[in-house]
Amino acid sequence: MKIRKGDRVQVLAGKDRGKTGTVTFAYPAKDKVVVDGLNVAKKHQKPKGGTMQGGIIDKEMPMAVSNVAIICPSCSKPTRIGYRFEPDGTKVRICRKCEGDLA
Ligand SMILES: [Zn+2]
Repeated sequence: MKIRKGDRVQVLAGKDRGKTGTVTFAYPAKDKVVVDGLNVAKKHQKPKGGTMQGGIIDKEMPMAVSNVAIICPSCSKPTRIGYRFEPDGTKVRICRKCEGDLA
């Protein structure tokens, strides 16, 4: 999977289309990511134990990685991810638009 935790992404589809956020969790096995503050669902939480409060809480749900695009830190545009190989064989992610490195 090309997108990782910490990447800034823009949502391409769904109710949060056009919004941007930072990836807080990546699930490569499921091709899903959780983006900070996006794809939020209201969860009705039952109080349990002494510390957990009940009520309605906002919970970020995982979304398909195909529905987000990374935002390039160099050109600030949503882009596709390419790869460049260093002489030592290291694979570096690059922006397909400006060819800048994606951290
Ligand atoms: Zn770029």
